[in-house]
Amino acid sequence: MGWRDKLVSLIPNPLVRLFAGPYIAGNSLQIALEKARELWERRGLRTTLDLLGEGIKERGDIDAEVAEYLRIVDAVDDGSYISISLKPTQMGLAIDPELCQSNIETIVQAAKAKGIDITLDMEESDYTDATLKLYRTLRQSYDNVGTVLQSRLFRTSDDIDKYLKGLNAHIRLCIGIYREPAEIAYTDKRKMKDNFHVLARKLWEEGHFVAIATHDEALIRRCHDLAREMNIPQDRYEFQMLLGVPRHVIQQELRASGAPVRLYVPYGTTWNHAYAYARRRLVENPNIGFYVARNLPRKIWNWLTGKSRRVQAQLPPKE
Ligand SMILES: Cc1cc2nc3c(=O)[nH]c(=O)nc-3n(C[C@H](O)[C@H](O)[C@H](O)COP(=O)(O)OP(=O)(O)OC[C@H]3O[C@@H](n4cnc5c(N)ncnc54)[C@H](O)[C@@H]3O)c2cc1C
Repeated sequence: MGWRDKLVSLIPNPLVRLFAGPYIAGNSLQIALEKARELWERRGLRTTLDLLGEGIKERGDIDAEVAEYLRIVDAVDDGSYISISLKPTQMGLAIDPELCQSNIETIVQAAKAKGIDITLDMEESDYTDATLKLYRTLRQSYDNVGTVLQSRLFRTSDDIDKYLKGLNAHIRLCIGIYREPAEIAYTDKRKMKDNFHVLARKLWEEGHFVAIATHDEALIRRCHDLAREMNIPQDRYEFQMLLGVPRHVIQQELRASGAPVRLYVPYGTTWNHAYAYARRRLVENPNIGFYVARNLPRKIWNWLTGKSRRVQAQLPPKE
């Protein structure tokens, strides 16, 4: 555990909610949809909507997640700029892979009828095989489903051979947010990023669609140059970033070059499922130590007096 993990693990849940505000659209589907429309209309940015939730083990809770995802599908009226992301363990992967497949298929089918893409997020390495197997099965019947590969894992190049052959897959390529043991993953960020570039080339060579998901501007530029060198048409790639990570300038630069840019826009109907996501984001924030030290007294005061809660209730957090 690094010092940032330790620092973030010490922040109590109510304060995590306050510090993580910029990374989460709000507490309702309606707020998330408004955010998506605003990003599209004001800045030409596409969105992937995500209902926060993971590692769910109660069948009743899983049913509720499926129902909310079907509500999202129903509410999205334009799949050309809004897609949807979900986590397999939110759909039951941790308790019953068949239930998980059937739940995801229900959502993918409903989304296909409306021209909406669905991405299966990638979680800890315990779930890599099951997620890729599930992806391969679904992709053979549904062309609106994509998944994620992580460049920190040694296995990813082999996974492309094993699971994506002949699929014309839709892949979000990222470093991977979960810390993994040194026996199976790079521990040096530079190596993860070099591998990212190697994997992007391989995926494009094999005809797949690649969403380049990183906030590292040098890596974004290296991958953009690679796509142009390889003459990859613009309908076979896009750039993806997370809501709340300040990358306005490069997003506009990419848009001006004609490349699509999509933001991951999560929302949570209950905070119980949102803390894990929020803590991971805070760990990645380079200013977190300074930020916590500078804002803690004010945040605690606002929280005790109820001021922040009132402000949060009225206003969805700004990106
Ligand atoms: C759209 C999208 C979807 C993703 N989906 C998955 C997934 O399904 N599974 C998975 O394991 N991982 C996923 N990730 C996470 C990803 O793998 C990285 O761990 C994470 O984005 C940080 O790494 P980076 O590539 O931005 O590089 P880094 O080197 O970590 O970051 C590059 C720069 O951005 C800054 N930065 C990064 N994050 C933040 C932040 N939260 N706040 C402020 N600054 C920040 C860094 O400090 C650094 O300056 C996703 C990322 C994106 C963008």
